[in-house]
Amino acid sequence: MSDAKPIWIKDPLSILADGAERGIVTRDGRIVELVPSGGKPAMADVAVFDASDHVVLPGLINTHHHFYQTLTRALPAAMDRELFPWLQALYPVWAKLTPERLELGVTVAMSELLLSGCTTTTDHHYVFPAGLEESVDIEVEVAKRLGVRVLLTRGSMNLSQRDGGLPPDSVVQDEDTILADSARVVAKHHQRGADAMVQIALAPCSPFSVTTSLMRSTADLAAKLDVRLHTHLAETEDENKFCQQMYGCRPLDYLEQCGWLNARTWLAHGIFFNADEMKRLGKAKTTISHCACSNQILASGCCPVCEMEEAGVGIGLGVDGSASNDGSNLMQEVRAAFLLQRARYGVGKVSHKDALRWATKGSAACVGRPELGEIAVGKAADLALFRLDELRFSGHGDPLAALVLCGAHRADRVMVGGKWAVIDGAIPGLDVANLIRRHSSAARAMQAG
Ligand SMILES: [Zn+2]
Repeated sequence: MSDAKPIWIKDPLSILADGAERGIVTRDGRIVELVPSGGKPAMADVAVFDASDHVVLPGLINTHHHFYQTLTRALPAAMDRELFPWLQALYPVWAKLTPERLELGVTVAMSELLLSGCTTTTDHHYVFPAGLEESVDIEVEVAKRLGVRVLLTRGSMNLSQRDGGLPPDSVVQDEDTILADSARVVAKHHQRGADAMVQIALAPCSPFSVTTSLMRSTADLAAKLDVRLHTHLAETEDENKFCQQMYGCRPLDYLEQCGWLNARTWLAHGIFFNADEMKRLGKAKTTISHCACSNQILASGCCPVCEMEEAGVGIGLGVDGSASNDGSNLMQEVRAAFLLQRARYGVGKVSHKDALRWATKGSAACVGRPELGEIAVGKAADLALFRLDELRFSGHGDPLAALVLCGAHRADRVMVGGKWAVIDGAIPGLDVANLIRRHSSAARAMQAG
C-alpha cells in the first residue's frame, strides 16, 4: 500500500460509467468510489484532479499487435498485397531485426498506444532470428519504463518453407527451443493477480507457420503454467485452403484437434467462421480480437462481429501490426471498427458505445482480466481522459459520441494502475524527437537491400 493520497477525478465533462456524474476516486491503483450527481467523496482527504474539460473512459485495451512492425510501415515491397504474398515480402526484412532495433520498434508502438488512450496492450512477437533470443525480455523492460500494462506473448514459428510452411528458415526456431524459452519467460516475468502489470501468454503464429506438434505442446504448456493462448485464425481464404490441403479440415477444426478450443484462447481476426463454428467458439468461451484497419488494408474481409456476439463470442479490438495498419492508435481503431461494422450491420445494430465496449470490456475478456476495462468500484484505476478543445470537435453535441464520430486520436491524460503515464498529451521523460530519429534510422537500415 502506498501513502499517496486518493485522487478525485472531479466533475468530468462526460464519463463512460453510470452513477459517476461527479467523478471517481482512485486509491492504491484501484477505483474505490463513484461519486454520483450532487454527491461528494466519502473520504475527506483527497487530491483533486479537475476533469471538467475531459471525457473519461476506462483505459482502452489492445488485444493484437506486432510491435516490431513499426520498423516496416508503408513498405513499398509489401504494399498492395494480400496476406500471404505480403508476409513473404516482409519475412526477409524482419529477419534483420536486432535487439537494438526491436527495442526502438517496441518503444514507438507502446508510446503511440499510450498516447491514444491505451492502458493495457498485448504484443504477438513471433520472429526470432539468431541474436534475438531475448525479445520478450526487451519488451518487458520497455513496458516497465513507460508504465503501460502488458500481456506479452512468446510467439513462435517452426514450420518453414523446407517443411511446407510460409516463412523462410532464417526466422524459425525448433520446438524444444521454443518450449524451453516459453517456460523461461513465464517463470521470469508473468505476474499473477488483479494488479499484475506484466503477464505472458504463449502464441504460435498461425497454422501455416507452426507444426501440429508445436500447437499441441504449446496448449499443454499453457495449461500447465496457467497462462493464456493466442494465435491468428480465420484471417483469409488462403488460410482455409492451406488447412484443407495440409490438414484436411477447416481452421477451427484444426484448432480444436490441437486442444485450443477453450476459454484460455483468444484469436486474432476470426473473419471466416461459419454459423456452426461461431456457436462452438461461444460455447468454448474462446474470444476474438477484431482488427478492423488491418483487415481493410490487406483486404482480408470483415469480421462478423454482431453474429459472433449473438453466438456468445466475446469481441475485443486490436490494432494489429504496423505493417498492416500502419499505426498503433487504438482510439482511431475504435472509430474504424465502428465504421466498418456499422456499414455491415446498419445504424440500429452498431453504435459508438458498442465500439467503445469492444475496446474496453470486450478486450478485457480477451486478455483474461475482468478487473480491467470498466469504470466501477474495485476495478483497476486505468483511465483515458480526452479533451475536446481541438478544431475537429468544435460544435459537438454529445461529448462521448464526439470522441468516436469526430475522430479523437490523442488522449490528454492516461492513468495506469493509479499512476499518470500520460500528462498533457505527452509521456513524461520521453524524448519523442530523439526516438523518431533513432527509430527511423533503424527502419532505414532494415529496409535497405
Ligand atoms: Zn497479426
